[in-house]
Amino acid sequence: MDGESMTHPNPQDYRSDVKPVWCPGCGHFAVITSVARALAELGLARENVALISGIGCSSRLPAYSTVYGFHGVHGRALPVATGLKMARQDLTVLVAGGDGDGFSIGGNHFLHACRRNVDLTYIVMDNSVYGMTKGQASPTTEADWDGSKLTPGGPGIAPFQPLEIALSAGASFVARAFSGQPAELTRQICEAICHKGFSFIHVLSPCITYRPEQRAYKDKVHQDWSQPASDRTEAFRTLLEDDGFATGILFRGSEPAAKPVERPRVALSDMETQFVV
Ligand code: SF4
Ligand code: MG
Repeated sequence: MDGESMTHPNPQDYRSDVKPVWCPGCGHFAVITSVARALAELGLARENVALISGIGCSSRLPAYSTVYGFHGVHGRALPVATGLKMARQDLTVLVAGGDGDGFSIGGNHFLHACRRNVDLTYIVMDNSVYGMTKGQASPTTEADWDGSKLTPGGPGIAPFQPLEIALSAGASFVARAFSGQPAELTRQICEAICHKGFSFIHVLSPCITYRPEQRAYKDKVHQDWSQPASDRTEAFRTLLEDDGFATGILFRGSEPAAKPVERPRVALSDMETQFVV
């Protein structure tokens, strides 16, 4: 956690007066509420926090918050956030988005953000569908989901496994939460912000419009990971038993977070330049 604290902060201080355009009942409402509660709990001054996103229903988060925000290009939230954190180490940088934005269009950036272990908190609201563009299958959609006319019978492809991939790529904090349990989500966001390194929170956040069956998540989730593993192999073993609905902090490593590297500046006039014609 960086920056100066506010005096007696209130979660409402971190909410803008822009009314969310999400469908009534969308899981994302609880995520913006949890982000605001976590920032208030940590007492972070608004001017010392930045919230970066890409494109999608969940990427609207920066508009609904009073901290600095950047609503960017599809899938590119992580490189923007990485550049910001490297340039402004004093800022607390949060990144928010969905499963399509983060695991498909931005999938490559996800791998390298984990590998670089930049001190960011990445919150992915996963509903296994592209909600904003009317319900296509996403990287985390089940192979046999028959809900989109674009993929009759289902996409037929094994879903992307966000936690396994984050762990393999080097993320130093990996957790899963459910938007229907905002107290636990708030706790995880606080811990992720305080962790020095790349923190990934996979949030099961139902899309009640295109995946109404996800309302049943509330009966499926179970908080199993009460003690984060500090050993990556142990965390992988835990995931072998995962049914996709276990919640808690799975892994917290101690690898040092990325720091900006000072490199000597070289003037163009000092460089030996060879022109090939
Ligand atoms: Fe939420 Fe789905 Fe509506 Fe988008 S389409 S706002 S994800 S319920
Ligand atoms: Mg989605």
